[in-house]
Amino acid sequence: MRKQIAAANWKMNLTYQQGTALLQAMVNADISLSENQAAVFAVPFPYLEMAIDTIAHKNFFFISAQNCSDKKSGAYTGEVSAEMLKSISLTYCLVGHSERREYFGESHKMLADKVSICLTNGITPIFCCGEALQTREANQQNVFVETQLRESLFHLTEAELLKIVIAYEPIWAIGTGKTASTEQAQEMHAHIRSVLEIQYGEPISGQISILYGGSVKAGNAREIFASKDVDGGLVGGASLIAAEFIEIIKALK
Ligand code: PEP
Repeated sequence: MRKQIAAANWKMNLTYQQGTALLQAMVNADISLSENQAAVFAVPFPYLEMAIDTIAHKNFFFISAQNCSDKKSGAYTGEVSAEMLKSISLTYCLVGHSERREYFGESHKMLADKVSICLTNGITPIFCCGEALQTREANQQNVFVETQLRESLFHLTEAELLKIVIAYEPIWAIGTGKTASTEQAQEMHAHIRSVLEIQYGEPISGQISILYGGSVKAGNAREIFASKDVDGGLVGGASLIAAEFIEIIKALK
């Protein structure tokens, strides 16, 4: 069975003290995950070490960065390299969140490099893709997402692709309270899997976890996650509230 993942994306929210308290609440919650499940917390850079320490004894909890540089090292003031993340034993990193694509001009090529540099450093990239509202209204979402996958992932070998996680996040559903219907989510997840299958074959495509992101909450997670090709969620707003995210984790298949 594919790994089922509930990933929290705190974005640029919470003070250090608030973040510590939230993670403590998650660790103390009555959650027991099985081997094919994971709870991942993408926290701001200055909180990574605290977060790694806080979840250290909780089975199947992991910490993620929200971004990393596409460069190996050097004169890139303000950037954080994948090698630095590896050196604090980090295991996951978000790559290509739509906010980074939009506000920080992240290109397909840059994201391809970020995916590769994460893998080189033993970090699992959670590669985000998804279309804007105009693209969906023009019924171009399938070709748009296919291009995102092709341009940033298709340089990977089969063995490398098996190490990544994909998050489909329709931009019109992020932080808007508007969720894709279960049919829309399942349809796009099946499309993503078929694009991977054409390139890499079924044994590979069938093993890739594809998360849904976009206004997932305690109240809708179980229904969204129940779909055949949906392997959990990437969650922004609702991951900042312990009671909400606990229920979202418990909704994993
Ligand atoms: C996100 O930013 O990845 C996200 C899905 O946000 P939200 O859950 O708030 O829509």
